[in-house]
Amino acid sequence: RGAPGGVVAMAGTGKNGTKDSISKLVADLNGDKMENDVDVVVAPPFIYIDQVKNSLTDRIEISAQNCWVGKGGAFTGEISAEQLIDMGCKWVILGHSERRHVIGEADEFIGKKAAYALSQNLKVIACIGEKLEEREAGKTFDVCFQQMKAFADSITSWENVVIAYEPVWAIGTRKVATPEQAQEVHVAVRDWFKKNISEEVASSTRIIYGGSVNGGNCSELAKQEDIDGFLVGGASLKGPEFATIVNSVT
Ligand code: PGA
Repeated sequence: RGAPGGVVAMAGTGKNGTKDSISKLVADLNGDKMENDVDVVVAPPFIYIDQVKNSLTDRIEISAQNCWVGKGGAFTGEISAEQLIDMGCKWVILGHSERRHVIGEADEFIGKKAAYALSQNLKVIACIGEKLEEREAGKTFDVCFQQMKAFADSITSWENVVIAYEPVWAIGTRKVATPEQAQEVHVAVRDWFKKNISEEVASSTRIIYGGSVNGGNCSELAKQEDIDGFLVGGASLKGPEFATIVNSVT
């Protein structure tokens, strides 16, 4: 496929971000050697975006971990797409499993967020993925396709969208999906694009995998035909390991 690989680092909330820890991470990232044909994006918590923007090499773009569903206004405590652009963000992650299953965001709401963010020229990392009980009940594809449909109901152009397949049972659990399990869903999502959107979108849209990716398992996953990159949580906080993951995507 024509699209370059995509890799995303994420620092979560709480213990995964202080001014000090972020300045160390940024220093590591600035010193890492990363392959040129891989897009690298980091997603700090909102309040550290400015710090990262001011200290990180331009080689790496910045994402937010969420944003408001529509135009900015009187929505106390929310951050709008316009504000993210103002701060120099190029990307936003939407529909992460914690937003869906801890905060309770619905498929349709997430789809609308994606459409609005795209309208403001943010690129969107659109997350999908099944819970353990859904996988065990044989509903993995149903769940992923339903989440895809909710994005498709609102999104009109897919050019600036990356799909992140993140099985919920693999996030932060050290239970990475096997390369076969991940590939099976990636191929199914690509087929879904073919049937429901177009051949062109199916072949040009990057589908990245997330869930317990680390320096040891990334190369086997990256070898899979339909895995175009990674969404990395824990291992992105470990300095050089993140560069190993970036360089596994070619
Ligand atoms: P993990 O996190 O890499 O630590 O499993 C992934 C994520 O939070 O999306």
